[in-house]
Amino acid sequence: MQTFNYIKAASIDKALGAANGTKFIAGGTTLVDLMKLNVETPSGLVDINILPLDKIEPLPNGGLRIGAMVRNSDLAWNADVQKNYAVLSEAILSGASPQLRNMATTGGNLLQRTRCAYFREPSAGTPGGYGCNKRAPGTGCAALEGFHRTHAVLGTSDQCIATHPSDMCVAMAALEAAILVEGPKGKRTIPFADFHKLPSATPHIENALEPGELITYVDLPKPIDGAKSVYLKLRDRASYEFALASAAVVAKVEGGHIRYVRVAMGGIGTKPWRSHEAEAALMGKAVDAAHFRTAAEAALKDAKPRTDNAFKVELARRCLVRTLKLATA
Ligand code: SF4
Repeated sequence: MQTFNYIKAASIDKALGAANGTKFIAGGTTLVDLMKLNVETPSGLVDINILPLDKIEPLPNGGLRIGAMVRNSDLAWNADVQKNYAVLSEAILSGASPQLRNMATTGGNLLQRTRCAYFREPSAGTPGGYGCNKRAPGTGCAALEGFHRTHAVLGTSDQCIATHPSDMCVAMAALEAAILVEGPKGKRTIPFADFHKLPSATPHIENALEPGELITYVDLPKPIDGAKSVYLKLRDRASYEFALASAAVVAKVEGGHIRYVRVAMGGIGTKPWRSHEAEAALMGKAVDAAHFRTAAEAALKDAKPRTDNAFKVELARRCLVRTLKLATA
């Protein structure tokens, strides 16, 4: 681990005034790991743990505002979240361990980095190390012809096939959250769909944050009257494991037909994967298994599996079909 400076920010303004090359640290559940591996080598850390961003509050429009410092456990067990945004609570509780969820924050979870083993190898991207375009652009991608069983099948490029690891983000994609940020140029709101970037030719650029910007809140829209939401995660073992495939569904059924539906998937995409194709295949349709299967085929129609992760395509389809059954039951 490289040495670094450390300061504790007493206010958002003070945090934003930190020098270039520094990183914000909240729960540290990803950043500290990556610093120990020399994947992250910030010149300084700005500790934001005492910033007043730890509340979950109703919005005047009927939505919910979540502070960036709200711990994952507090968010998952919040009564409003459990009642009106069950998919979010279920997604968070399916990830990590209780100890990690007690530390990890909402803002930090949005910035989780991939679990690609090559990316996390200390020497990746250096001469003699594994090629990793995410670590060092232009050094190649060892996963393309290497071990890629857990890698993505949607949103990939010839530069990177790393899977986005977050469960929370999949639920937020289905809920159409908005991310509020504050930086040297002021405040702005980023729609959830625009926050995470596809790897394309620049896999080292993972999100829409500008240098020095701090995530302050996540806003959830007003819940849909009469809708039910479900998160289902399939993985190699029952706990403390990342998704091989997951699905988040928010659906409203009236008269046996689907009147509202939002679908997002995890474990298979290079970013939290909203499936407009599946939604289009479901809207207005009767609740039945054949329509669910058609939607699942549509969701995966652009999948680009490789040798070791081809199983994910059918696994993801079945995951979505089962989640749709649960959400419309
Ligand atoms: Fe690096 Fe992405 Fe390739 Fe993994 S998949 S080795 S993160 S470029």
